[in-house]
Amino acid sequence: MKAFRYLDNTAILRLTEDKCIGCGNCELVCPHRIFQVRDKKAQILDKNGCMECGACALNCPTEAIYVNPDDGCGCASYIINSWLSKVRGKPQYGCGC
Ligand code: SF4
Ligand code: SF4
Repeated sequence: MKAFRYLDNTAILRLTEDKCIGCGNCELVCPHRIFQVRDKKAQILDKNGCMECGACALNCPTEAIYVNPDDGCGCASYIINSWLSKVRGKPQYGCGC
């Protein structure tokens, strides 16, 4: 999953640290290992790796995480074309949207 990424700085992912109780759910459910809990607080390690699947927000008991692809999402076309370009061995530029 690490190879599938949006364009940089497009993911809508926010963490309100004050609300975090350090339960570790976000760290556990994220398929891209975006979060790490240290000293009972979650941290975002790799925001650009977020695919906006929403699992972290759904499983956060304190609503400390906000993620909403409808706010201005990364581009699925870009991700799929990036993967295809690697398979085909041809470079790809942009998403084509
Ligand atoms: S939205 Fe999905 S990919 Fe992004 S941080 Fe949350 S669980 Fe990980
Ligand atoms: S799921 Fe929410 S409360 Fe739990 S560690 Fe992650 S941000 Fe903090």
